[in-house]
Amino acid sequence: MRIIVCVKPVPDPRHWNRMSLHPTLKVLVREGIPNVVNPLDRHALEEALRIRERYGGEVMILSMAPLFSLSILREALAMGADRAVLLSDKAFAGSDTLATSHILSEAVKRIGPFDLILCGNQTIDGWTGHVGPQLSEFLGIEGISFVKMIEGFHFEEDGTAKAIVRKKTEGGYVRIEARLPLLLSVVKEINTPRYVTFSGILEAERKEIQVMSASDLRIDPSQVGLAGSPTKMADLFMPEVKRRREVVQEKPEMASKLIFEKIRQRGLI
Ligand SMILES: Cc1cc2nc3c(=O)[nH]c(=O)nc-3n(C[C@H](O)[C@H](O)[C@H](O)COP(=O)(O)OP(=O)(O)OC[C@H]3O[C@@H](n4cnc5c(N)ncnc54)[C@H](O)[C@@H]3O)c2cc1C
Repeated sequence: MRIIVCVKPVPDPRHWNRMSLHPTLKVLVREGIPNVVNPLDRHALEEALRIRERYGGEVMILSMAPLFSLSILREALAMGADRAVLLSDKAFAGSDTLATSHILSEAVKRIGPFDLILCGNQTIDGWTGHVGPQLSEFLGIEGISFVKMIEGFHFEEDGTAKAIVRKKTEGGYVRIEARLPLLLSVVKEINTPRYVTFSGILEAERKEIQVMSASDLRIDPSQVGLAGSPTKMADLFMPEVKRRREVVQEKPEMASKLIFEKIRQRGLI
């Protein structure tokens, strides 16, 4: 099984208080904020590793991100992926979800045949959930979002294969059979990602990370970056925080009495 896992480096939530908004471009200013692997992408990678353990094959990381994200890809390699491809070019900066999906799809076409693409269902920064479905459209393959379980695969005599997956719904799940090649966007219920081991970290240092630019992908720069992004930000601002807080420093019994009195004074009980 040849599996591509899409991994997006996202700003570490522990440093989100240091993030700001660009006044004219209306995008997040991410410079100087440490990155981590988008949490759901760890679940996607874990699932890919489990499939490889069962059926054999190769797990490849695919990421579009600035060059400083190489260390994040090493972390994904340390979990057990075989190799990584980083798509990095100044021309990609400012890409919206459509341009991002277009860039990823051009890379997938060049990387060669695959059976599965696994994505996180959404990121913790952009949180649109657009990229998986758009990528499957660009590639002309089926895509399923909110996948909470991959039950297994049926391999037919004619060489084709089908996956049986469970898609999370509000009240339960829908069971879907879909032909490979297939793109699945996974939710956190699918598995518990493994820890990175010391030997995994050492092995990751020896694994290949191929860096590809816009010209390697033969992408027309006008179709990517801000120029190729139909999303136009009308406005972007930090919401005014109206909440106030007060620290009650008393022994528990007195603190609970004071808190109770404050709630009562505000007419909440
Ligand atoms: C006008 C505009 C300008 C922007 N400029 C920038 C910018 O300069 N720099 C910047 O970082 N962001 C920028 N963004 C945000 C960027 O478009 C999104 O972060 C990106 O397209 C992914 O969208 P998302 O985070 O909602 O991902 P989702 O659609 O929620 O992601 C779902 C899954 O898709 C995969 N995926 C998503 N993005 C990537 C990726 N890059 N590589 C590999 N897999 C991925 C992951 O598996 C992820 O879990 C800009 C957005 C707009 C609208």
